[in-house]
Amino acid sequence: MGEFELIRRYFRPLSGNAGSEAIILGIGDDCAIQRIPDGHDLVFSVDTMVEGVHFPLNYNPENLAWRSLAAAVSDLAAMGASPVCFTLALTLPQSDDTWVESFARGLSQASRAFGLSLVGGDTTRGALTLSIQVHGTVPRGGALTRGGANVGDLVCVSGTLGDAGQALDYLELECPEGDVASVLARYHRPAPRLSLGMALAGCASAAIDVSDGLVADLGHILDASEVGAVVDASCLPISPALRRLAGTNAASKALYSGDDYELCVTIPREKWVDAGSRVREALTVVGHIDASRGLRILGPDGEEALARDAGFDHFRSNR
Ligand code: ADP
Ligand code: MG
Repeated sequence: MGEFELIRRYFRPLSGNAGSEAIILGIGDDCAIQRIPDGHDLVFSVDTMVEGVHFPLNYNPENLAWRSLAAAVSDLAAMGASPVCFTLALTLPQSDDTWVESFARGLSQASRAFGLSLVGGDTTRGALTLSIQVHGTVPRGGALTRGGANVGDLVCVSGTLGDAGQALDYLELECPEGDVASVLARYHRPAPRLSLGMALAGCASAAIDVSDGLVADLGHILDASEVGAVVDASCLPISPALRRLAGTNAASKALYSGDDYELCVTIPREKWVDAGSRVREALTVVGHIDASRGLRILGPDGEEALARDAGFDHFRSNR
């Protein structure tokens, strides 16, 4: 199938998935047109996924589409933005109908679930790679950033951490069940925290999504805000499944493994007291910001250790 037939058949139908008034023109012209509502800022970001680097070889295309859009949309969640639309630059080794059909199905499910439409893109031949650019909006001046944490603020995380990292051990399994199936679902079908991100605007002082692991991503908040933090390992939110599968390694997974796409935010104590029950129930307090630089982890016996440098850096040799 040719490039244009492929776009017409598989991608054009996704153009209307979120029927937003903000989209003046979707797929089919030289550019898409998005209208920014009065009193709002445009928030946008691009993410690239390369086969063999960000996802395994021969990875299921439906899950690939979901995961890739989820990862991109998670950046909007971390800014407190409301998603509007996205573009897709897709590089394929060959025009494989079955693959593209399944990929488009996953993309359609994800774009409906997250509430944004595909409005354009580019299709080329080469090593399997996708770049997704997401657009969202926030009320003017209201975006959450990494740079606003202050001494005394609480460090909070949403959901549970470490499940997706644990799932890496089971990606090859044929028929996963029980706890293994539940952590695999976290890896294959992450759920970006969009409504929580929006609810945190006006409450959180800084925010980031946990894509590379809590230590690495909280580290970015600390750098940008020029502060330090203490995290109590015994407070980390760990799912019962991860606790059973990883045993004594569960806390380490929660600290150092990525791909969960939860939010890590800092909240001034007085704002935490006043926060609505939805925000409080969605978050776990794991530590606080202090003035000494760096991130220290409080272990189970109360001993403090400097967090080891973590996170994935493409241009450094990783452990
Ligand atoms: P141009 O040559 O003007 O850049 P293209 O021929 O690349 O246009 O694409 C034709 C139309 O199809 C454009 O509206 C473009 O945004 C859209 N498009 C191309 N590839 C994709 C894709 N992978 N997903 C969504 N829309 C796409
Ligand atoms: Mg083009």
